[in-house]
Amino acid sequence: MDDFRSETDSDYTSYWRDWFISSRGNEYFCEIDEDYLTDRFNLTGLNTEVQYYQYALDLVTDVFDLDCDDEMRETIEKSARHLYGLVHARYIVTTRGLAKMLEKYKKADFGKCPRVMCKSHPLLPMGQSDNPGVKPVKLYCARCEDLYNPKSSRHAVIDGAYFGTSFHNIIFQVYPALIPTKSYDRYIPRIYGFKVHAPATLIRWQNVERDEMRRRLRKLEIDSGFKDDEGEVDAEESEEEEEDDVDIEGMENGEMMPEGVQQA
Ligand SMILES: [Zn+2]
Repeated sequence: MDDFRSETDSDYTSYWRDWFISSRGNEYFCEIDEDYLTDRFNLTGLNTEVQYYQYALDLVTDVFDLDCDDEMRETIEKSARHLYGLVHARYIVTTRGLAKMLEKYKKADFGKCPRVMCKSHPLLPMGQSDNPGVKPVKLYCARCEDLYNPKSSRHAVIDGAYFGTSFHNIIFQVYPALIPTKSYDRYIPRIYGFKVHAPATLIRWQNVERDEMRRRLRKLEIDSGFKDDEGEVDAEESEEEEEDDVDIEGMENGEMMPEGVQQA
């Protein structure tokens, strides 16, 4: 984006959006339809958010025709990118926009979850605020339901408001089949094969709580989203209950242990 040069004016005035989405660092954006951009209703309120709004809009819709110096052009160009981002956040929650982002999601254009147990599940971009200039874009993994920083510094500086706080959740409401199964796999800390005492106890407690929750949900006939959720709760449990912990810190029972934890 920053390597934009005003010498190439003649090229960039046509097909601005094409140029924008194919620029390095803009891989997270999809192309906003012409119809959407030219419907003033969709742009309500943005005229106060964006400097030189009308020129910026003209640039984005390829009708820019103003004789101005390079500095001014640069300013308008910057405004155009900001405007595109703000409209983008609105566009990607429309039917068309969701479909376009879905295609990018399927291709893992937003990267893959770095968590080993998520097995390279594709990520979705999201904002922690809907207001521009607050927080840069983060990536959401639907498998572990956690957020990650973009790997590339080019992406790490994109404003989170260009994606918004709702898109990554709306997409799963519109396409529920995309909701991934929750992974039962989790990392258990071990030292030479023996479970480490305190974390092992905590993990046992968390497993009991989770299985309790799954039982409750099953009773209410609510799908908890965990993959092997079919009547294996009790079987899985007992295997993990062997007393092979090492009490490396010489900790006595009870300390650092959530209430109600039972030592096997
Ligand atoms: Zn994940």
